[in-house]
Amino acid sequence: MALVNGNYLKLKAGYLFPEISRRVKAFSAANPDAALIRLGIGDVTEPLPQACRTAMKNAIDEMGTPEGFHGYGPEQGYGWLREAIAKHDFQARGCDISAEEIFVSDGSKCDSSNILDILGEGNRIAVTDPVYPVYVDSNVMAGRTGEADDGGRYGGLSYLPITATNGFSAPLPAEPVDLIYLCFPNNPTGAVATREQLKAWVDYALEHKALILFDAAYEAFIQDPEIPHSIYEIEGARQCAIEFRSFSKNAGFTGTRCALTVVPKGLTGTSASGEEVELWGLWNRRQSTKFNGVSYIVQRGAEAVYSKAGQSEVKALISFYMENAAIIRRELTNAGLTIYGGEHAPYVWIKTPAGVDSWGFFDHLLNKANVVGTPGSGFGAAGEGYFRLSAFNSRENVNEAMARIRAL
Ligand SMILES: *Cc1c(COP(=O)(O)O)cnc(C)c1O
Repeated sequence: MALVNGNYLKLKAGYLFPEISRRVKAFSAANPDAALIRLGIGDVTEPLPQACRTAMKNAIDEMGTPEGFHGYGPEQGYGWLREAIAKHDFQARGCDISAEEIFVSDGSKCDSSNILDILGEGNRIAVTDPVYPVYVDSNVMAGRTGEADDGGRYGGLSYLPITATNGFSAPLPAEPVDLIYLCFPNNPTGAVATREQLKAWVDYALEHKALILFDAAYEAFIQDPEIPHSIYEIEGARQCAIEFRSFSKNAGFTGTRCALTVVPKGLTGTSASGEEVELWGLWNRRQSTKFNGVSYIVQRGAEAVYSKAGQSEVKALISFYMENAAIIRRELTNAGLTIYGGEHAPYVWIKTPAGVDSWGFFDHLLNKANVVGTPGSGFGAAGEGYFRLSAFNSRENVNEAMARIRAL
């Protein structure tokens, strides 16, 4: 008899995206001629930078020669990529992060879930509400939560509401916590954190010996030079934070797969017997045992992001999506809607009109404008009354979608 992991049975059946696709399917069946525009997805749409493609093509040719063939690489990533990341993403911004502290992987989604492997049971965990669902579901799967209540909130998690009332800045936990998930720029709200706000979190974590799990997947979208890109821009963060980064959203690697996790040397957790244990060694051991590295070809593609040509192409990609976001912001404001985000993130977070809930607004846009977005309530109870539109689409589709919404 093979027992299953009963924690999986606690998961609220992936409700959001299946329900969206059910409603879209039903609409399309009834309206076969309607041309739908999807602004609901969190996936990039523009092609891969030339610099990355050239580097990957060259790497493939190298792999076809006896001298240039690469078998298993280092589980932590090739030294040249880790050096490039440490230099360009961290040291250039004044962060004291070395190549050795960079772990290259095939995605932030898996890293932000896998990190639970090296963290113990019994941690008190804080997440924002609304939240990127991976943080919550990975804790459920790992048995770190209780059952879900009728509102979909799991026992054992501290939910920190982020709404217009607090400027989408989570309050510091009222009850003490040990693990804190933060995502800035934020998916889904598009909010960013100032240096002062991040410092408050770092100070809290240092005081309570808590660990911050900082997801910076959207840092490349930050437009204001005063806003930190990395938690390590804050003094003391090396002692209390792990950071996740990805090439998915800046360089369009969602289908190519490359990301990284930063675990500073000297960052510790506590063992059951009360000893301080370095997390770097545990994560290194975890990756060496359960992961065999990212393909040489893809790592060469990621390295090219830091070349002169790569940097200018990535900049152009970001500008393109941010121009989409600016169009969405402008048009929705003109349409009389209250909107947030979209200034340093590819997501615009819309307050639904009075008397219309998240799903009601979803149906309204689907039926009247044939535009598909994402109901805020799908990201958490406090997302009720909000709606997410993504800037990841062609200019033509964004303009058309906005023209239809304007005409409502
Ligand atoms: C897209 C995204 C990521 C990146 O995930 P990958 O697995 O690297 O593609 C990470 N965090 C958030 C919040 C995201 O939206």
